[in-house]
Amino acid sequence: MKYLSTRGNWHPALSKEVIRTGMVPKGGLFVPESFPQLSLDHIKTLKGYQETAFYILSKYLSDYTDQELHAIIAESYSSNFTHKDIAPLKKITDDCAILELWHGPTAAFKDMALQIMPRLLVHSMASQKDGMTVMILVATSGDTGKAALEGFKNVANTRILCFYPEEGVSLIQKYQMNSTDGQNTVVVGVRGNFDDCQTAVKAAFANEALREKAEKAGYSFSSANSINWGRLVPQIVYYVWGYKEMEAQGLLKWGEPMNVAVPTGNFGNILAAYYAMRMGLPINQFICASNQNNILTDFIKSGEYNTKRDFHVTMSPSMDILISSNLERLIFELLEKDGQKVSALYDDLKNKSTFKLTGPALNQLQQRFYGDFTSEEETQATIAKVFKNHHYLLDTHTAVGYHAVEKYRAQTKDLTPCMLTATANPYKFPLAVLGALSDEKLTDDFLAVEKLHALSSENIHPQLVDIKDKALLHKRVVSLDELASVIENELYC
Ligand SMILES: *Cc1c(COP(=O)(O)O)cnc(C)c1O
Repeated sequence: MKYLSTRGNWHPALSKEVIRTGMVPKGGLFVPESFPQLSLDHIKTLKGYQETAFYILSKYLSDYTDQELHAIIAESYSSNFTHKDIAPLKKITDDCAILELWHGPTAAFKDMALQIMPRLLVHSMASQKDGMTVMILVATSGDTGKAALEGFKNVANTRILCFYPEEGVSLIQKYQMNSTDGQNTVVVGVRGNFDDCQTAVKAAFANEALREKAEKAGYSFSSANSINWGRLVPQIVYYVWGYKEMEAQGLLKWGEPMNVAVPTGNFGNILAAYYAMRMGLPINQFICASNQNNILTDFIKSGEYNTKRDFHVTMSPSMDILISSNLERLIFELLEKDGQKVSALYDDLKNKSTFKLTGPALNQLQQRFYGDFTSEEETQATIAKVFKNHHYLLDTHTAVGYHAVEKYRAQTKDLTPCMLTATANPYKFPLAVLGALSDEKLTDDFLAVEKLHALSSENIHPQLVDIKDKALLHKRVVSLDELASVIENELYC
C-alpha cells in the first residue's frame, strides 16, 4: 500500500516513511492511494480486538512484517486497558449503543491510537537504521498530552516533551500530566494560552539552527499530533470491532447497515468511520456532532468552511476547535483524489479564511454526513436525561454526540441502528457532569469526583481514583520565549 499527499506534492510513500514524516513537509496530509476491501465473511470469524486490529492494520501497513504487527498489537491492546474488550459496546436502547473508547490509561479515546502509534514509530525508526533518538514535541490543551506521555513513556529511543498552557487545562488534566513517571518524559507548563503554546512548538519545529543542533546530539524531532497516519489508521479498527459487537448484541443482523455518531473536533475519529465505510463496512450515515464551535455543522449544511468566527470555550474542551485538520482528507476523497483542487481550496483558506465546496462533491458530502451542534445547556440536559432514563453516565463530549443522534432521528425519522462513540470517561470532566445532575455548584475537581461517585455509583476510572495523592514529578513553568531553550537543554540531558 502506497500513500499520496492530499495536495499532490509528494512522492508515493510507504507507511513507515509516512508515520515517521508525520505530515507532508510542503503542506498536505498523507492518505492511502486506495481502500483495501474488507471481507464481511472473514470479519465475522475474527475473535477479539487484537485479531480485528491485525486484520485491518496489515492491509494498510504493508511494509511492517506480520511478526512486527502481531508483537506491536499484543503490547498495545492488553492489560493497559481496563476492560477485556478494549472498547466495550454498551447497549442503551434496542436501536442505539455506545462504543466506549475511554478504557485506556488516560481515560480518553486518544489512547486507542496513542497506545500503538509510538510503537509503530519506533519500528519505523529502527528500520531506518540511523541510530537517532526521536524527540516528540507536543503542545496540548489536555487530553492529547497525557495520552502521548503514556504512549511514549519508557519507549526505547524516544523522548517526549510536552508543553501545556499553565492556566488553560483542568486541574485533573494537570495532575494527570505532571504525575507521569518514566525515564524519557518531560512536562512543562507555559505561561500563555494553548494557541501561543502551539505556535511556539511549531516555531521550534521550523527552527533550522535548533534542528541542526538536535541532529548533532543524535535527535530528530517528530510529532504525536492527530494528523499523523499512525494515529488515524488504528481508529478504523474499532468501527469494525464495534460493528461485530452491534451484531453480537442483537442491534442488527449481519450485513445490515448501521449509522455512526461521533463527537467531533479535529475530524480524525469520524474520518476513520468514513474510511471503514469505504472499505466495505455497512455504514449509512455519519452524524457529526459539534459543540458551540459549530464550523463543521455549517460546512455540512452549506459547503462553506469559514474560520472567521468567535472561538467558544465550552465544557467539552477537546472539541473546541476551528480548524479541523483531518477534514482535508475527506475533501480529497470527495474531490476524487484531485490534489490540485484540494490545494486550491486550502490556499483559499489560508488567504481568505474560507473555502467553498460545490457541485457533486457537496452532494456526496450531504448524502452521507449529517451535522448538528449542541449548546451548553442542552449538553447538561442530555447528561441528566440519559442518566435518569437509562442509568448511563455520559461525559460532556459524548453528551454532545447523543444529543445530535436525537436531533437526527427526530428530523429524518431514520431509525437505522446507531453506534455512538464515547470519547471520554465522565470523571475526566467532573464539575460539568456533576453540575448536570445536581444543583450544587462546586469549583474543586477532586471533590466533584467524590460527589459524582456518591450520586451515580458509577465506577471511577482507575487512572483517576487516587490522582490527587499522586506525586507531582514535573513542576516547571516557563514563559513562551524560554520554550526553545528548554528544548535545546533537553538535547544535552
Ligand atoms: C480529541 C477528542 C475529541 C475529538 O476527536 P477528533 O478525532 O479530533 O474529532 C472528542 N472528544 C474527546 C474527549 C477528545 O479527547
